[in-house]
Amino acid sequence: MRKSLIILLALAPALGLAAPEQEPQVKENAQIAAVLSDISAKNIEATIRKLVSFGTRHTLSDTQSDTRGIGAARRWIQAEFERYSKENGGRLEVTLDDFIQPPGERNPQPVQVVNVVATLRGTQPESRDRIYVVSGHYDSRVTDVMNTTADAPGADDDASGVAAVMETARVMSRKNWDATLVFIAVAGEEQGLFGSTHWAKLAKEKNWNVAGMITNDIIGSSHADDGRVVKDHVRLFAEGVPPLREMPDPLRTLVRTGGENDSTARELARFIKPEAEKHVHGMTVDIIYRRDRYLRGGDHSPFLDAGFPAVRMTEPNEDFRHQHQDLRKENGVQIGDLPEFCDFDYIAQVARVNAAALGALALAPAVPANVEVETKELTNSTTLQWKPNTEADLAGYEIVWRDTTSPFWQHTIAAGNVNRFTLPVSKDNVLFGVRAIDKEWNASPAAYPFPRR
Ligand SMILES: [Zn+2]
Repeated sequence: MRKSLIILLALAPALGLAAPEQEPQVKENAQIAAVLSDISAKNIEATIRKLVSFGTRHTLSDTQSDTRGIGAARRWIQAEFERYSKENGGRLEVTLDDFIQPPGERNPQPVQVVNVVATLRGTQPESRDRIYVVSGHYDSRVTDVMNTTADAPGADDDASGVAAVMETARVMSRKNWDATLVFIAVAGEEQGLFGSTHWAKLAKEKNWNVAGMITNDIIGSSHADDGRVVKDHVRLFAEGVPPLREMPDPLRTLVRTGGENDSTARELARFIKPEAEKHVHGMTVDIIYRRDRYLRGGDHSPFLDAGFPAVRMTEPNEDFRHQHQDLRKENGVQIGDLPEFCDFDYIAQVARVNAAALGALALAPAVPANVEVETKELTNSTTLQWKPNTEADLAGYEIVWRDTTSPFWQHTIAAGNVNRFTLPVSKDNVLFGVRAIDKEWNASPAAYPFPRR
């Protein structure tokens, strides 16, 4: 019998299995902390003001001018990524995902759409193929989504997200991470998620291992429309059961076993919140159990539709007078998405939340694969098994569990470096997860166990 199990069995009656079996890892990761302190609100402000200076970044706007329109904007973003790369030993690979979007509802003519992509290759051989994506969209719009010439500053929506992604790329490319990070400034969001749809489809076709995706869209303001100021919260939208017309078997099994709150997007959110809050002091990540806000969409959606875990970050209280609006004054009140309504210190905090999450993901081992709970016969214990991870620095695995009504993991036990583990907690009463741990205590997100008879 395993030592940890003996300890657990010995403790079980005394604890009533209610107390945490293992201290939560509250220690900050030094590399992540170093990266967070490099994030600069000044850089973020400069990026947003520069993006606004292109007048409009409408997807159908001018592409030839060097000073106005989406072409000038994307060439500048590309040059910035290349500058970060040059400053950090050429470690960011800057490429363009450049394609023609066929005509549709919001583009009567075929239109060239260009995603600017900066890739930071993972340095651990076993983890290089594991990819985490972070995006913001650099296109903008005014009231009429087909108005391609009016000034559309898009400071909050979504120069704020692009600036956070660029600053995160700049600081993270100074360090080594086990897994690969892909920073993308996408276009065509306002016309129908063109850029993100193209990249997510490409990833799916090429069978890339996109283990997580975060979109940052409207993360620029700490001011609500009623005057309230909230500088220390960010919303994280995380879908549960995807709204598919037909339910594939794995999804049916997830729902049938009470795992509707344990989709891979929810496990990603359940990972991001504590990692971000541990490293970004004073920030609270408010997980919202929903794909997105009503009437709105974002670049995480095509990733979810392709089957990848994807979530969306958005400011806590949106002021709709400063989104998708023609620049104008109404009763002396300025309407429009101008930089004066942005809070650059707040955006820097959200960038830190991103960097903490991405850093923790990219340092940790992969989520254990083929995690199963044995259901051969009726028992009041639980036996879990999984496929061994391949990372050279793997230390072992942790079992986590929580009440079925609880949003977050409540109990953790070290299983050691094994691939099968039994514990005296009834699978009928709780939700389990299995995490992989490396020798520096970096833990992966949890995997939900599927039943095996
Ligand atoms: Zn947006």
